[in-house]
Amino acid sequence: MSIITPSLLLDHMRCVHKVWRDNHGPKAEFVGEANPFLKLLWDRGIQHEADVVAGFGFEYVDCGKGTESERIAQTNAALSNRVEYIYQGTLAHGNLFGIPDLLQFIDGEYVPIEIKSGSAGEGGDDISDGKPKKEYGVQLALYADILNKKGLNSSRRAFVIDKTGERVEYFLDAPMGARTPETMWELYHRIRADVEAALRDKLQNDPAMCGSCKDCGWYASCKSWAKENDDLTQLFYVGRTARDTIRRSLESGRIDDLIGRDLDAIVARKKADKAFLKGIGESTLAKMIARGRLLKSGGDPVMYDRFDFPDVGTELFFDIETDPTQDFVYLHGFWVRDRDGERFEHFTATEISPENEREFWKRSIDFMLSFDPDDVAIYYYSAYERTTYRQLQRKYPDVITEEALDALFVRANMIDLYSDFIIKSTDWPLGSYGIKAIAQYLGFKWRDETPSGALSIQWYNEYLTTGNEALLKRVLEYNEDDCKATLVVKDYLKQRVEAM
Ligand code: SF4
Repeated sequence: MSIITPSLLLDHMRCVHKVWRDNHGPKAEFVGEANPFLKLLWDRGIQHEADVVAGFGFEYVDCGKGTESERIAQTNAALSNRVEYIYQGTLAHGNLFGIPDLLQFIDGEYVPIEIKSGSAGEGGDDISDGKPKKEYGVQLALYADILNKKGLNSSRRAFVIDKTGERVEYFLDAPMGARTPETMWELYHRIRADVEAALRDKLQNDPAMCGSCKDCGWYASCKSWAKENDDLTQLFYVGRTARDTIRRSLESGRIDDLIGRDLDAIVARKKADKAFLKGIGESTLAKMIARGRLLKSGGDPVMYDRFDFPDVGTELFFDIETDPTQDFVYLHGFWVRDRDGERFEHFTATEISPENEREFWKRSIDFMLSFDPDDVAIYYYSAYERTTYRQLQRKYPDVITEEALDALFVRANMIDLYSDFIIKSTDWPLGSYGIKAIAQYLGFKWRDETPSGALSIQWYNEYLTTGNEALLKRVLEYNEDDCKATLVVKDYLKQRVEAM
């Protein structure tokens, strides 16, 4: 009998291929998972849970010690005795298994409660606007299902205690959003059925390369499968859904098969048959074909539009580092190029506290505003900096008004290279258009052999705990190299468009 646990459901939600590959894939090709970010998230979750439990103002029975069968027996005894609070109870029924952080006896039934170090909802703490986190909801639904099968929960009530210590109710029977009629309870059953089928080898699907593959132990294995099969998900912006639609309509998911086709003929067929390539528009198809041809030919990057870069005395290449496990921005870095030469400037928090975050963010804002707006250009890569600065403005409105921050980001000389140029006006013989892929393609090398934002977060947190200056140096060098990489991309784009 295949046991269904919350982590299996979560794996399936992250990648619908993973549960099958974990259980029936080529095991020798699995290289283990050492994602520092997930470890950090895990450690932070454990610490947060310990802090919340230490602050419990009520008596509870701890069922988290002993062997698995001892814990199940302790939990069953506590449930039978209608103990009001059960901490780390082990629930098992049929092929379902789970350990909710807390069970509370309310109104004649047991209700599962999860303690989370993040926000309760997708868009923040409030889920009244209909944005519950699916990962939390599906996990709670599994616990509610086990309790229901034991005759201990019929209302499907469930709660999350979020990072602020607030208790937020999850309505498992309510539609997940204004445009999503499916309930969390229905989603849970759908995912559970898929996981059960994958475990029994009854549901098979192919890998699909995506952003989270790099953190997966199957990355090399799936990547080599994609290469061998000439799979369309190797192309930038082509995911599982588009690949599978193309496969159904064209009876092939190979890059060669797509790029060998005549776009006009495909478009004509699409117009005649609404089910043909449903959901994939003409411009998307044209992009896929262009990208596939470029990837296969290995030709030079293509510039579709001419654009003028500002001619100014100072250029700032800007990149921030954040720790999402603590909702904290710890570094604002700038590579400065002016008439005197080049240098790195940074504003780095020295402790995790709102005062410190505010202080170094303010210094960064003051730094950007200290230049003549007509004689400075500020470059960054992706909308992340802008989005994060808006969040900081909401947190610390006394630093800068919303209008003043917006005015800074809408300046003609404030340029998001990725959103404004790379995506709109260029194509590259690469599967990713991220700063690392593009700058490395252009010959830039990061000083760190395995540069990643997740490792930077880990080094920064270790530096705060140990005071080890070598770790801080690594964090700063990583950010400095990200800023310099942005300069390399900008200079390449400028040189190419000037030659047009
Ligand atoms: S490498 Fe990607 S496609 Fe393969 S199992 Fe992992 S997440 Fe899924």
